[in-house]
Amino acid sequence: MKQKQDFSSSPDYWEEKIELIEKGKLRDIQLEGLISSFERAKKSEFYKFKFKDFEKIKNIDDFEKLPFTTKFDLVENDPFAFLSTDIKNIVRVHSSSGTTGRSKYIFYTKRDINTWADTVARCLYMIGVRKEDVFQNMMSYGLFTGGLGLHYGAERIGCLIIPAGTGNTEKQLELMKQLKTTVIHITPSYLLYIAHFIEENGLSPKREFNLRIAVVGAEPHSETTRRKLENIFGINVYNCYGLSEMNGPGVAFECPFKDGLHLWEDQYYMEIINPKTGKVLKEGEEGELVLTTLKREGMPLIRYRTGDLTKIIKEKCKCGRTHRKIQRIKGRADDMFIVKGVNIFPSQIETVIMDFPEVDKNYQIIIDRKEGLDILTVQIEIKKDFFKGDINELKNLQEKIREELKEKILVTPIVEFVEPGTLPTTTGKAKRVIDKRRL
Ligand code: ADP
Ligand code: ZN
Repeated sequence: MKQKQDFSSSPDYWEEKIELIEKGKLRDIQLEGLISSFERAKKSEFYKFKFKDFEKIKNIDDFEKLPFTTKFDLVENDPFAFLSTDIKNIVRVHSSSGTTGRSKYIFYTKRDINTWADTVARCLYMIGVRKEDVFQNMMSYGLFTGGLGLHYGAERIGCLIIPAGTGNTEKQLELMKQLKTTVIHITPSYLLYIAHFIEENGLSPKREFNLRIAVVGAEPHSETTRRKLENIFGINVYNCYGLSEMNGPGVAFECPFKDGLHLWEDQYYMEIINPKTGKVLKEGEEGELVLTTLKREGMPLIRYRTGDLTKIIKEKCKCGRTHRKIQRIKGRADDMFIVKGVNIFPSQIETVIMDFPEVDKNYQIIIDRKEGLDILTVQIEIKKDFFKGDINELKNLQEKIREELKEKILVTPIVEFVEPGTLPTTTGKAKRVIDKRRL
């Protein structure tokens, strides 16, 4: 209870919205949002046609009869076909980072930008970011939503923002030191790389900086990676989820209990479906996340299939918020690879290997096929100190990791050790899997 008071004692309006919702209005707000989003969507060329057989929606049952909108719809149609207002009201366009396939374009009115900034501010406020903080935004600015999205949210709170963007690690560290950065926004893989870089230069991540919080997002990371990062830097690391199609980062965010991400249900209506059949699943069942914008003016998206796999956490959060939580994203449906007929997600492998203290900060998964047989190789960077040990120790560790992986993923991989800093790194989204069967 004490914790809850802490969060909601702020006069800031994004927190007051939570108070309103706690008075039991969330379902009403959602139904209102679904009805008006449907009406607004029908003003766009795309939905006018798609929903031609649907007059009106009055309740959730009507809503669940509407067809899904897919990534394919976004890339195959003229981008402007999704506008539900005149172009003169549109003030910004963003585009997905293009991890998969062709670009999708998202349009925002002034009000949409405002609502999004509010939502991001709510995320940051929830984890204790305040106007005294120095916020170094180490995500790419530009068409990618990660940069500007968090920038506007942090600005709303009143932080001092360093719009650093990605890359140029030495400069990033100089900024962090000289300007006494307290909060960073970064991809988990780049933060792992930064830890490696700092240690290589003989510095201590814990002592050199004033950091207290890292917001990590844009790609999956495991719980074991989070713990590793928290230990290396001596800070709190929070998971931020979002996608350009739903404005960008800040769709769901971890609260200080770090046990799932609160999805802002006054902004986005969520459903979890069976990706094969499209059937809506019960709370607690794992499937594909489907989202509907409840407030977006310029470009409403209805029943949008995110491709991301997760489940709704049934239990109410200890922090007292009414917005339900989702489990950390397991991966994209299209991240999954099949080896010897077994479905595997990179996150399953990461969870196992990052738990070994000898494992350093980077890994890569390579799949190949020889004489008709799939071969799964996991290359792992091992800490330098450990290399000094005798060869038998290395072999034992290799064996332990292989056994543990076999137990979790049901396929025996080849485990290869490499020196720290040898595997490819990126300052954007990491590419962990190389499937040579497709090359
Ligand atoms: P692209 O699809 O081109 O990568 P975006 O930059 O909009 O486009 O990325 C959104 C996707 O990134 C999400 O659908 C999800 O797959 C992934 N993602 C974003 N944040 C997270 C996170 N915190 N955990 C796991 N995956 C994430
Ligand atoms: Zn919570």
